[in-house]
Amino acid sequence: MLSKTIIEKYAKLAVRSGVNVQPSQTMVINAPVNTRDMVEACVKEGYIAGAKEVIVNFYDEKINRMHYEYQGVDTLTSIPEYLVEQKVAPLRNGACVLHIISEIPEVMAGIDSNKLQEVGIARQKAFRESSEITMASKVQWSIVGYPNRDWARKVFPNDTDEVAIKKLGDAICNSVQVLEDNDPVAFWQEHDEALRKYVNILNNYNFKSLHFTNGEGTDLVVELVNDHIWAGGDEATPEGVMFNANMPTEEVFTMPYKYGLNGKVVSTKPLSYNGSLISKFELTFKDGKVVTYKAEDNQDVLQSLIEFDEGSCYTGEIALVPYHSPISMSNILFYNTLYDENASCHIALGRAYPMNVKNGTTMSQEELDNIGSNNSMTHVDFMFGSKDMEIVGTTQTGETVQVFANGDFVI
Ligand code: ZN
Ligand code: ZN
Repeated sequence: MLSKTIIEKYAKLAVRSGVNVQPSQTMVINAPVNTRDMVEACVKEGYIAGAKEVIVNFYDEKINRMHYEYQGVDTLTSIPEYLVEQKVAPLRNGACVLHIISEIPEVMAGIDSNKLQEVGIARQKAFRESSEITMASKVQWSIVGYPNRDWARKVFPNDTDEVAIKKLGDAICNSVQVLEDNDPVAFWQEHDEALRKYVNILNNYNFKSLHFTNGEGTDLVVELVNDHIWAGGDEATPEGVMFNANMPTEEVFTMPYKYGLNGKVVSTKPLSYNGSLISKFELTFKDGKVVTYKAEDNQDVLQSLIEFDEGSCYTGEIALVPYHSPISMSNILFYNTLYDENASCHIALGRAYPMNVKNGTTMSQEELDNIGSNNSMTHVDFMFGSKDMEIVGTTQTGETVQVFANGDFVI
């Protein structure tokens, strides 16, 4: 596992640069039990930073799996009001939320995908208010990762447990620049500025559409919503408190026009969804909607994502990540979206981020619908970037601009 010094450094980064808890603010930590050491360090750092209260919600993915295995759908889908309140009340009152993830790969493998989907829908409905608060950046939130044995074995199958855990821990720490001899908080200030450079360039171009092509077979035109806003790195709450929602993050992203995707996209990294792994798949879009799809395996899982609700066959995010970004260069497949999406250009099926369009965070859902912002209860990123990715932007006046050549920015 990680050394005490590294954990303390990592906790400081998560609390200060991640959620950036403010004096007298409540901080909520959601974390699996196998991240206990990190949680303890984050609680301490939260109080040092001035939090008036730190609330910890522990869970366990393997026990959670047992609930799915043994409980009936009726029990799993009846989510009592007190559980909803427990989650949403702190957010309503302005608490910030730190999610520490430590996924057990394929923990739900073998559980009926219909059951998973029904429960997923019930949970998304029940917890809708809390996801709307965070997706609209009304409070600070952040996701960081932490190693565990099962995950390490999946990523480094040829190593002993001990070596694998060490390697995964190092890879996670490297991805967020938590090193023995540096100041990660200072690093992140510079990193956020570097991402802002591309955000500004792309916002200035105000492209009408982007055309993605590569040798994997992707040939996709993505129209962007009018008045779209590119984002990347840190972002601000309405009160102007800065936070980093994902650590690591290497992407700049914006809102596609819901009805404006046409062509084919081929995945280049496996997608871990609902505890199952879809290793290779392709989707074809017509006027924004997925019209055909095929996966080499777990087609039913892909289907359950696409058919999750009315909006899950449309997209809510298009993100650019250079091939030569640090996580991509590490050549490690994490089997986890927090990491893998930062190694590759990606698209999200499902809900768009209101902050990706001008005045979006103050628009009603109806207003967002009218401008072509996708609405869904889900948001799942999948990766399609590659070494040979070409992206050509078309401006509002019809000029073309090369944005990516050979997998990297050329603007
Ligand atoms: Zn993204
Ligand atoms: Zn996303």
